Amino acid sequence: MTTFQQHAAPSEQARAFLARAAHQHFIDGESVPAASGQTLTTIDPSTGEELARLAAGDRADVDRAVRAARRAFNGQWSTWTPYGRQALLTRIGQILDERFEELIQIEAMDMGAPVSRLRGSKPALLKMVSFFAAQAASISGETLMNGIPGDVTTMTLKAPVGVVGGIIPWNGPLNGQFWIIGAVLASGCTAVLKPSEEASLSVLRVAEILCEAGVPAGVVNVVTGRGQDAGHALAAHPDVDRIAFTGSTQTGRSIIEASTANIKKLQLELGGKSADIVCADADLGKAVPGAAMGVFANSGQICFAGTRVLVQRSIVDEFTERLLAFTDTLRIGPSLDDTANLGPVVSQAQLDKVLSYIDVGRADGAELLRGGGRLDGELAGGYFVQPTVFGGVTNDMRIAREEIFGPVLSILPFDDLDEAIAIANDSEYGLGGAVWSQSLSTALRVVHGVHTGTMWVNCYGHIDPLVGFGGTKMSGYGSKGSAAHMDTYLYTKSVYMEL
Ligand code: NAD
Repeated sequence: MTTFQQHAAPSEQARAFLARAAHQHFIDGESVPAASGQTLTTIDPSTGEELARLAAGDRADVDRAVRAARRAFNGQWSTWTPYGRQALLTRIGQILDERFEELIQIEAMDMGAPVSRLRGSKPALLKMVSFFAAQAASISGETLMNGIPGDVTTMTLKAPVGVVGGIIPWNGPLNGQFWIIGAVLASGCTAVLKPSEEASLSVLRVAEILCEAGVPAGVVNVVTGRGQDAGHALAAHPDVDRIAFTGSTQTGRSIIEASTANIKKLQLELGGKSADIVCADADLGKAVPGAAMGVFANSGQICFAGTRVLVQRSIVDEFTERLLAFTDTLRIGPSLDDTANLGPVVSQAQLDKVLSYIDVGRADGAELLRGGGRLDGELAGGYFVQPTVFGGVTNDMRIAREEIFGPVLSILPFDDLDEAIAIANDSEYGLGGAVWSQSLSTALRVVHGVHTGTMWVNCYGHIDPLVGFGGTKMSGYGSKGSAAHMDTYLYTKSVYMEL
């Protein structure tokens, strides 16, 4: 087991939660073991040691959870008023505010993000929960003029779609799960969540907290386990109406295939290879740290990471020099170390994948300017990768085309805006991207030219639930946030009344 001395000490509550012998599914308001009795191990990526044991769920567990979610959907939960659901979400926000430190310590030890980074995500989480609280009381249909002769009045009603399967990745489950939980509670749906086998603990803890806040049993259930077992069973289950999936494009494809039997509604938030375009007139005081942290934050494990940094050729040398100087200031450490900017990547498999891409970059002729390896010394047991910078990258190299999901930044020079836009668009993905320029016309030209779900101008990474976040091309479909997101948890019923 992880020795806490290797970290700053976690709080009493986080320690008590982590010390449980095994973490079970959370179904119908109760902790229950896997039907098979099997467990799997989750590792603390800062040490490489066992952190906890999880129930290894499969089809039987998913079926039990879906039945609980269906009972809850048809039961007393369906009589809750919008104001009741709004008050519930407001109460959940208050509890998250009070318990946030405990939750981020669990999350940090489970998936490796530094507590300093997670602490900074509190306003975003609370904003998201209050967004959904407001949405709960804003669901409405329409009254319509119609072309039918006679005394006919027509209206539309909005109704919850039913049982939602939420399949969650490991790169930020604490906040990420609330895109689903918030919409489920606001709309009157129910859910079965399947967190990643690499990072399930904050999702299990939140399920207990939701129960304490007054979420009725069966409304939010959690089944842990591997993707090919529990995840596949959820995506294929005939009594699940909608899947909200966030994860890799490859898994997204198998979710589409598994979901066809009962024509599930799908929301797919997939991978990215975003371009961060730095123009010659950019304020480098902002652009350098912005572009660096657009990749290195969360050790590169962010779907919209701006991993292709396109720099106008006339400033490449100055930009590169300043970027390397900034990279050298980053402090890497265990996730509970308050002074660390960067933590480990999530797992041995992810470490191997990132290191192999660094080898590919070298072999393809990119110039390794910083990093390029695993950390040794006292951090050698954890999955720490040095922040890595490649120069002289061209867009046909694999490191510029494939999602690495690690702290690897590629610099690609360009001559003019048309070329930058063409390089940005020469990708199968379309998730995020940015432009750094002091000219509004330059910035807007790039914003209009790049085919991607979100563009940032002179900044990187803001997400506001009012605005929404989603991708195009192979980054998926169905935006998170905005009233349009809520709509996908509802269906429209048209009513004709002859009076
Ligand atoms: P992943 O696709 O390996 O796993 C995501 C989830 O799917 C996990 O819970 C996993 O257990 C489950 N899963 C795996 N195989 C499955 C299957 N056959 N059927 C059903 N479920 C299955 O992704 P990951 O490695 O956990 O996360 C990283 C990926 O997520 C990256 O590609 C990243 O870009 C993407 N991501 C996208 C967004 C977004 O908003 N677009 C946000 C975060 C992460």
